[in-house]
Amino acid sequence: MVLRNVTASAIDDAAPSQYLQRYVRAELEQLLILQDRQQKIRQIENEIKSLPAQRKHLDSQLADSAATLEAIKHKARQVEVDRKKLELDVGARTESINRLKTQQYQTRKNDEFQAMGHEIQRYEDEIRKLEDQELELMDQADKLKADVAAEEKKAGATKDSITRQMNDLGEKSKALESRLQELTKERTELAEKMDEDVLGRFERLFGSKGDSAIVAIEHGVCTGCHMKLTVATVKAAESGKEIVSCEQCGRILYIPA
Ligand SMILES: [Zn+2]
Repeated sequence: MVLRNVTASAIDDAAPSQYLQRYVRAELEQLLILQDRQQKIRQIENEIKSLPAQRKHLDSQLADSAATLEAIKHKARQVEVDRKKLELDVGARTESINRLKTQQYQTRKNDEFQAMGHEIQRYEDEIRKLEDQELELMDQADKLKADVAAEEKKAGATKDSITRQMNDLGEKSKALESRLQELTKERTELAEKMDEDVLGRFERLFGSKGDSAIVAIEHGVCTGCHMKLTVATVKAAESGKEIVSCEQCGRILYIPA
């Protein structure tokens, strides 16, 4: 009888406390898993949000490359236009010279003949200058032709690389979306099994803190806000009979295993 009483009283004393400790420990473990999934969800959501900017960046690289190529092509076309104009100018002066030479044969006046000769001389000087300019432009055109070829090759490589990167982004986006779905499902299933009050407390903290809602106590310090905890808080957390919060930042505390 006595023995039975002692045993019964020992069970009565120990059982609720052990039950509570187990319950709290399980709750904290669930919160840590939930937090891990929510942190991963947050990270993936941020990665997904960064995708349009990455695409935009690639688009602008592609546009820059096309614009550089177009600018060089435009310059090459302009040089060709300028060269043709010089050619026409030379042609016009050659015609004038021919006309003057014909007139020279027709005149009998010496001063007229000489005046025409000066004019021919002037046109010939101009033609030499124009032809020098034309040679210079032909030199430029040769260089630009090589530049255009090099830039076309470069633009082609850029386009290939950007197409590849765009495809990679597409693949990445799909992978992130499917991982997000998995995590969200897992998160929902976890949350359904949890105590509503604890879950609500966790959600509020997770939303407001930006990083962690449940953090470890290390050397009597809250690893969320890095403030020293009171002895009473640490003792309460160690006893494991209730869910304890940091008195500074409000984050839920646990003792790491
Ligand atoms: Zn804290």
